[in-house]
Amino acid sequence: MSNTPVNDNFALLPDSYLFSAVGAEVAHFRDSHPDARIISLGIGDVTRPIAPAVTQAMRRAVDDMASAETFRGYGPEQGYMFLRQAIADVDYAGRGMEIGSDEIFISDGAKSDLGNISDIFSRDCRVAVTDPVYPVYVDSNVMAGRAGQLTSQGWNRITYLPCTEATDFIPRLPETPVDLIYLCYPNNPTGTVLSAARLKEFVDYAREHKCIILYDSAYEAFISTPGVPRSIYEIEGAREVAIEFRSFSKTAGFTGLRCGYTVVPRGLTGKCADGSMLSLRDIWLRRQTTKFNGASYIIQRGAEAVYTPEGRSQIQAVIADYMRGARLLKAACVQAGLKTFGGTDAPYLWVKCPQGYDSQAFFRLLLERLCIVSTPGSGFGPAGEGYVRLTAFNTEAATAEAARRIAAIGEL
Ligand SMILES: *Cc1c(COP(=O)(O)O)cnc(C)c1O
Repeated sequence: MSNTPVNDNFALLPDSYLFSAVGAEVAHFRDSHPDARIISLGIGDVTRPIAPAVTQAMRRAVDDMASAETFRGYGPEQGYMFLRQAIADVDYAGRGMEIGSDEIFISDGAKSDLGNISDIFSRDCRVAVTDPVYPVYVDSNVMAGRAGQLTSQGWNRITYLPCTEATDFIPRLPETPVDLIYLCYPNNPTGTVLSAARLKEFVDYAREHKCIILYDSAYEAFISTPGVPRSIYEIEGAREVAIEFRSFSKTAGFTGLRCGYTVVPRGLTGKCADGSMLSLRDIWLRRQTTKFNGASYIIQRGAEAVYTPEGRSQIQAVIADYMRGARLLKAACVQAGLKTFGGTDAPYLWVKCPQGYDSQAFFRLLLERLCIVSTPGSGFGPAGEGYVRLTAFNTEAATAEAARRIAAIGEL
């Protein structure tokens, strides 16, 4: 036992009791229906194996480690140049955006970066998030002491930008001053996207109000609709106001391998209490070199292979598979008379609960009547109430079977 004072903010964090309750309910259903063929469309994890081009590259990298001439010890904290250059060339220059390899920071995943970025901003920053929201954005700010107190309308120092059917799933610009705006497009959990025109309104707002946008584009590879922005840097002026987070997790199945990257443009600045300016790129570099030793060489070689012609076509085939599943699920929901959003440019479907059901009741109905596990939307924030999330990340056969069950659901 110790009396060592702890970061009190951790005591503010509630248990994510909804998600544990959901887990317990599924476990109970499984126990009481041992023969039920339960299909999980609740998972936010990929199921297809790593592309052969990537595993071959990693095998070669393992061999590099076995020989004195090619062995690597500590790598550059910012990531190996071979990977940063491939990202700059393919993901940015190849799409008409100018991002230098020195502005790219390789990491062990986007979640770490999205949580860690909090380190470089003042505790006094005012934060805006969309609602529903990926919980990491909120919880990492609670830990940093920026969220205030939890009320029935959420945290009282966080500005929520509701995204519902009524707003066409487009967040309105903040009405009170904020310093940081988290945006995630294509969106988890709703599966919806933001057009270039709508995204430009946020970029213009951030330029005018001198605040920073933290842009999570973990699902950009799932976009198929022409014109939907894959990167915030497609928008004029975004280099002055935006940090972008990306990941190989959903793009190339790296959820277990772990690799992502963050772009912090040179010239992006923040202000010290004494009025002086600091380069966000420089302080993020300082943060990373102090607290992080880089992603593994083997994994970075694997990520590099994602950018080879074989790697690209292999991962695109897997994404096309997932999105075929998403289309099947969406068609089934529509056939069942369910209002369904997303699922076109993201592997997530956001299904409106039928009349008389809230998120949890509809979750239960899908479980008990169809043996399908969904995620209640209310777990993602107050504006998620009245929806459930379905994912297209299960195997092709399981997704197709789930679609058949949904299409045949009958009277609700
Ligand atoms: C899956 C996901 C990520 C990726 O996280 P990793 O740590 O790279 O696995 C980032 N943002 C959102 C919204 C996600 O759903």
